[in-house]
Amino acid sequence: MPQILDGKKVRDSILAEMKPRVERLAEAARPPGLAVVLVGHDPGSEIYVRNKVKACQELGIYSEKITPPDTITTDELLALIAALNARPEIDGILVQMPLPKQVDAHRVLLAIAPDKDVDGFHPFNVGNLVANAPGPRPCTPAGIVEMLRRSEIKVAGKKAVIIGRSDIVGKPMALLLLHQNATVTICHSKTANLADECRRADILVAAMGRPAFVTAEFIGEGAVVIDVGINRVTDPEQAARILRGDSTRTGDFHRKGNLLVGDVHPLDTGNSSAFTPVPGGVGPLTIAMLMVNAVELAERHILGRTG
Ligand code: NDP
Repeated sequence: MPQILDGKKVRDSILAEMKPRVERLAEAARPPGLAVVLVGHDPGSEIYVRNKVKACQELGIYSEKITPPDTITTDELLALIAALNARPEIDGILVQMPLPKQVDAHRVLLAIAPDKDVDGFHPFNVGNLVANAPGPRPCTPAGIVEMLRRSEIKVAGKKAVIIGRSDIVGKPMALLLLHQNATVTICHSKTANLADECRRADILVAAMGRPAFVTAEFIGEGAVVIDVGINRVTDPEQAARILRGDSTRTGDFHRKGNLLVGDVHPLDTGNSSAFTPVPGGVGPLTIAMLMVNAVELAERHILGRTG
């Protein structure tokens, strides 16, 4: 039977390790401070932001939620970020995506001071990631690295295949695994013979946003399968195709009206040696790593630590 990689357990141990570090900072000067900018009222974003603020509260991190209206202009948002950059008690600034169409998201991300870039998306920090120099790392791939490490899954010398080349998941994932001496292949929508590429993987990371796309033929014997995808299926026919007559899950779908599924087919992980479930796998790690980034930025600001 494959091992189920429990993201909640890993999250809890990461957060438990952060607690004394937050307390130490609070005793030395002040708690870490995180500003979260949520423009407008996108329901998904509101849930993410609520969870981020809650995680801060539980750890004793000072958090400030700033909620400009969705009519805000790029210049107004840039001014808001400049003000946050100038505040010494704010260590990290997070601008929740997506932003309204009239706002130039790229200019906004560039405006965040690199030493307050808690998401690790600023080109300065992308450069640090490429060079394997210290700096905040994008939270989701950093969480996956933590999960592999804490699950004692060896990475060095292994073949890692990543499906997806986004700036927030696929590319940073590839670099982090490369720095751990994996041999890395990045696949995307133009990759030929995708299943063949994937089957060669010792570690397969699916980050494509396609419900249950990765089926048994993608998974080599004994592979470790990391499912980053979070997809909500509401179409009954699509759900029925995915569930292949699984009566318990079909009952769940009819009760809830939707099916939460990853990029990996939930019934096809039998060949793997370990896999992350959806929900409860990669998802919980993202906010935990956001907390780690906030604490590390604060340690730099307060203690002058750069490691
Ligand atoms: P993007 O849409 O930015 O990127 C998707 C990538 O998948 C692209 O590189 C795309 O290729 C590739 N892709 C799409 N379809 C195919 C296909 N048929 N064959 C091969 N490659 C394909 O998504 P993100 O990276 O932002 O997110 C990916 C998934 O992870 C989503 O489900 C998202 O919800 C989830 N997510 C989960 C997080 C968590 O905390 N667990 C955090 C962030 C994201 P191309 O570049 O050629 O278009």
